[in-house]
Amino acid sequence: MQLLGNLLQAVKPSPTLAITRKAADLKRQGVDIIGLSQGEPDFPTPDHINAAAKLAIDKGLTRYTDVDGTPELKAAIVRKFERENGLDYDSSEISVGTGAKQIIFNALLATLNHGDEVIIPAPYWVSYPDMVRLAGGIPVEVSCPENQSFKITAAQLKRAITPRTKWVILNSPSNPTGAGYSAMELKQLGAVLLGHPQVYVLSDDIYEHLRYDGWEFNTIAAQVPALRNRTLTVNGVSKAYSMTGWRIGFAGGPKNLIAAMSTLQSQSTSNPCSIAQAAAQAALDGPLDFLESRNQIFRQRRDLCLDALETTPGLTCRRPEGAFYLFPSCEELINRQTPAKRLLSDDTDVCRYLLEQARVAVVPGSAFGLEGYFRMSFATSTEQLEQACVRIRLACEQLS
Ligand code: PLP
Repeated sequence: MQLLGNLLQAVKPSPTLAITRKAADLKRQGVDIIGLSQGEPDFPTPDHINAAAKLAIDKGLTRYTDVDGTPELKAAIVRKFERENGLDYDSSEISVGTGAKQIIFNALLATLNHGDEVIIPAPYWVSYPDMVRLAGGIPVEVSCPENQSFKITAAQLKRAITPRTKWVILNSPSNPTGAGYSAMELKQLGAVLLGHPQVYVLSDDIYEHLRYDGWEFNTIAAQVPALRNRTLTVNGVSKAYSMTGWRIGFAGGPKNLIAAMSTLQSQSTSNPCSIAQAAAQAALDGPLDFLESRNQIFRQRRDLCLDALETTPGLTCRRPEGAFYLFPSCEELINRQTPAKRLLSDDTDVCRYLLEQARVAVVPGSAFGLEGYFRMSFATSTEQLEQACVRIRLACEQLS
């Protein structure tokens, strides 16, 4: 008898796994690998947030809480949505989970029936399509090439919607491209969605606070208020507050959806960690000024990498508005030959070559649904990034 269930078998093995494993093997052997494949800030959690967590322990806040978040944290989230996004939610319209990842998974699992379709603009965060498959749905990938700044257009959205469409997922600024939607673009997408009342919108805003060059963040429920009652606005503390390990994500959305997500969570993980919830409350209610200097460092690192990539033969890269990823095209390197006379036949080969030759770990674009690219994170120290860029350039120069 087959051990694994059908749903799990529908999940594709990660195309990045081989490279990740190889990078780990090399590191274990003592090879000096620079890892640019990770998706987390290298900054520490700010002190005032750590202090709130310590206080929570001292106060004995170590018991089960309400399944989908304490009233205190929900109140802080209501204030955050109001203050930063102009979105007015009641606490019954808020859900807190163990990371934005769980929130998104809950939403899909709670709503998808077998064969329901979810529109996912590609390139996308690797987890979206597999989460849809695990929930019995069908991911409908819409290819968004670089000449449209990796963003879905209103015309593409209109063509992709069918009577089986249940959700469309938007992620701005995006993982893996850093591309962000403007208010006008969101309004155009919203205009299409208004004609399809069965379609829900999942707006993944986790990179909201990581933005550069004065780019303005907008979220669709605020731009198109008529969609508010069928939009799940997802956010979390992982990226902005350097709290990836604390595992707190949250969302605002229609009451019936939020209640269903809570039911699901009550039979899986129950409440997110009580201490992490207290820390997240301090994060959301606390100052945001530390972000300015951190974002300045991220921007300098982004520019340092962009400048280096510009002078690297075979690579070109769009300037991202936000997040901490670059998504360079390596199309020109494909079909070139390595010094060991191996042909680079796709982006995975390019990434394998960069790992072996440059000793830099990056992730192939095909993992994110767009071939001919790779993703490199600039959430690592400036010195490491400088080194990595030099190594990548030298490796590219050696191709014939
Ligand atoms: N959404 C996107 C686009 C992400 O890149 C990530 C993390 O990498 C998440 C959601 C999940 O974040 P977390 O579960 O840490 O809140």
